[in-house]
Amino acid sequence: MKPPVFDYIAATSVDMAVAALAEARGEAKIIAGGQSLVPMLNFRLLHPAILVDINRISGLAYIEETAAEIRVGALTRHYQLETSAVIARHLPVLSAAMTHVAHLAIRNRGTIGGSLSHADPAAELPMIAILLDAKLHIASASGKRTVAARDFLLDAMTVDLADSDIVTEIVLPKLPPRTGWGFEEVARRHGDFALAAAAATLTVSDGIITQARVAVTGVGPTALRVGGAEALLIGRALEQSLMSRAIGAVRAAITPETDLHASSDYRRHLAGVLAGRALSAAWRRALACAA
Ligand SMILES: Cc1cc2nc3c(=O)[nH]c(=O)nc-3n(C[C@H](O)[C@H](O)[C@H](O)COP(=O)(O)OP(=O)(O)OC[C@H]3O[C@@H](n4cnc5c(N)ncnc54)[C@H](O)[C@@H]3O)c2cc1C
Repeated sequence: MKPPVFDYIAATSVDMAVAALAEARGEAKIIAGGQSLVPMLNFRLLHPAILVDINRISGLAYIEETAAEIRVGALTRHYQLETSAVIARHLPVLSAAMTHVAHLAIRNRGTIGGSLSHADPAAELPMIAILLDAKLHIASASGKRTVAARDFLLDAMTVDLADSDIVTEIVLPKLPPRTGWGFEEVARRHGDFALAAAAATLTVSDGIITQARVAVTGVGPTALRVGGAEALLIGRALEQSLMSRAIGAVRAAITPETDLHASSDYRRHLAGVLAGRALSAAWRRALACAA
């Protein structure tokens, strides 16, 4: 199928893009990497009157390090995240996740802002954003605002963006010292969307977990932080019975759909297995940091 007819505006600044979106009153769509939008146009799932291309806006693609954070421009490509030495040093769980996002050709074009705004229920970046307590900076006709990733993701493919809103920057706090991480995914073929994926970070002091973060994707309408598992882990060492209880908390927190690819029961079981592996890896790495 070919896309429906649309007008096209190549914005050269955020202000220009916001003005075009505001003028279109909900009839326009931003195009970034186009890796999700163009297939949806071709399948006639969307019929925007105007596409506002943000690829010519300079200064929207960058990875910058500050003392406590990594700031990523919304137009930063998946491949830039995957290969960034700064990300590898401070947010290795993000580097690891990126190799599972689609295929290289798609990672060359797809953007972090596009992935978060598209909010596919099985996408890796929304899970990593909530795992790492990321914040999104958003520009619109009415000004600028900042929203936490966990508040941004509202439902499957539904996010906290109004008609004239553009995600401009994603801010990711660096991992604290003595923090280990784990990322695990199962997909039918490498590069396919996940049947389920899990990520974890554990901060350990004197053999005791002082901060725990566990997130899953592919097992519900949005990626999810599993607060029940995190609460169990804090103040303890990760031994087998605790691990079993944490896995149980992950499985209890989710209600996956049955679809063509997997049953609900299989996905729930898998999410627990993957969360367990991610926690094991995070524990091992945290102990290695402390040694
Ligand atoms: C075959 C295939 C396999 C894939 N596999 C995976 C996978 O395994 N994991 C995964 O996570 N993704 C996967 N993807 C999706 C890919 O990662 C996309 O690149 C990504 O989801 C969207 O990013 P984009 O920059 O291409 O956005 P676009 O397609 O340009 O836009 C997507 C949506 O976001 C909006 N948007 C884009 N940028 C902004 C912004 N800055 N502010 C506000 N709204 C914005 C657009 O209006 C549109 O609604 C796959 C895609 C394909 C085609």
